Amino acid sequence: KCCFNYCLEVSNYRSNGKYEMIKIINLNKIFHENTKKEFHALKNINLEIKNSSCVILKGISGSGKSTLLSLIGTLQKPTSGDIKIDEESIAKLPDLHASNFRAKNLGFIFQAYNLFNELSVKDNISIPLIPLGFSQKDIDEKVSEALKLSNIFHKKDELVFNLSGGEKQRCAIARAIVNNPEIILCDEPTANLDLNNSIRFVEILKDLKNLNKTIIVASHDPIFDDLDFVDKIIHIKNGIICE
Ligand code: ADP
Ligand code: MG
Repeated sequence: KCCFNYCLEVSNYRSNGKYEMIKIINLNKIFHENTKKEFHALKNINLEIKNSSCVILKGISGSGKSTLLSLIGTLQKPTSGDIKIDEESIAKLPDLHASNFRAKNLGFIFQAYNLFNELSVKDNISIPLIPLGFSQKDIDEKVSEALKLSNIFHKKDELVFNLSGGEKQRCAIARAIVNNPEIILCDEPTANLDLNNSIRFVEILKDLKNLNKTIIVASHDPIFDDLDFVDKIIHIKNGIICE
């Protein structure tokens, strides 16, 4: 099949709106391979996640949620199987390509905010843009937009050290979206938040979904159970998906 036909096919498929943004095929992750104490953390996972959808990955502690997110996020490599993101196979990307891929396409929100306490909010959020080679003017614009979306613009010059937990989380959201990623991965995003801040987090998540982001949230927080904008809840138990 010639390349042109292929492109046409893909673009027809795209213009219908929905396509498989993330495709996970027979994925396995074994820790301590080749030692006596092997641990099979993910077992033959198959999963498809459509673009612009919001998916909740539910399971008790130790079930494999973070491992799965980190494989999708190219932070670790699978033992076997593949992950395709927007048709591109990412499972075996060499490290340098993986970090470029992350910088362009992914946003991460973690339970521990992973911010630099001694830097201002604005500077923390600029960091992901530095390797992408934007001008200072572009950086300032993108940072302001991310700060506004995350409802933390008013604290832009404050040191992260002086922020409350909820504000730190909003700062972490701004950092995750400043590169305008297609995919946002959230690992236990409300674990350190009180109910009020968890609700604010959910509101921002809804805004991101309305911006057509593909979102995966790993959490066992019941706050994600009955949300109208959630497309799918996936249950994971002992490294196995039980939909
Ligand atoms: P969850 O996020 O659902 O709590 P994780 O994905 O963090 O679960 O962990 C799944 C299982 O894999 C746990 O039993 C954990 O101890 C194990 N595990 C995770 N990372 C490693 C590692 N680097 N080395 C060995 N075992 C690991
Ligand atoms: Mg975890």
